[in-house]
Amino acid sequence: MLQLFYGGTFDPIHNGHLAIARAARDELQVPVRLMPAADPPHRAPPGASAQQRARLLDLAVEDEPGLCVDRRELFRAERMPEARSYTVDTLHELRAEQGDAVPLALLIGADSLLGLPAWREWRSLFELAHFVVADRPGSPLDDGLPPELSAALSSRWTSSPEALGSRPSGLLYRLSHPLQPESATEIRRRIAAGDAWRHLVPERVAEAIADERLYLEGAATPGPL
Ligand code: ATP
Repeated sequence: MLQLFYGGTFDPIHNGHLAIARAARDELQVPVRLMPAADPPHRAPPGASAQQRARLLDLAVEDEPGLCVDRRELFRAERMPEARSYTVDTLHELRAEQGDAVPLALLIGADSLLGLPAWREWRSLFELAHFVVADRPGSPLDDGLPPELSAALSSRWTSSPEALGSRPSGLLYRLSHPLQPESATEIRRRIAAGDAWRHLVPERVAEAIADERLYLEGAATPGPL
């Protein structure tokens, strides 16, 4: 069966992330593992720490069948605190664990797909996994891909969920779901600025953010000098 991983900073997890994870679960009929990124070494975490972000994810998936949290990138950062965590390393780790024959896929938003050429060893990622892409406002997939990326992807598109389960890697599948406007940057900005934000995240996540007084500082748009 296809193994589907949804990586991200999740700083914090929001309703857009959840909607996409549910859509992927339902459309592809597989569990989705949400995989928070570790904090980068030698830098204070931008919003919440990796532990806090992962805890918010636990709360978000508590009542969600078929969604779970995978802390492997946090564990790797504990083992190797000096190393930055790259997707290619995570995929190699998964392959070492699960073997070469298992179909693996990464779920990403369209903005991440557009930025793929900046990822470490990006072309080799397709030898390790499929990609499932979720449309995102402001990140056009139709006619919006830069030529280099478009050329690398053109033979990989499939509209068949079964195709993803029939080979280990190399395909690209576009999820069909309503566009989700939420953005973690915007939520952090709203919290710091005192604007309404609780409706953008699951209720339990909102409670925890408020209890722990997360994101109150640092993300506000600077006012006039
Ligand atoms: P930011 O707003 O700071 O960029 P984010 O909301 O994109 O943060 P991430 O943790 O970076 O949150 O996102 C994890 C993955 O989910 C990325 O691949 C991103 O493209 C995707 N994603 C996040 N929000 C959406 C959304 N509203 N629609 C589609 N994809 C999304």
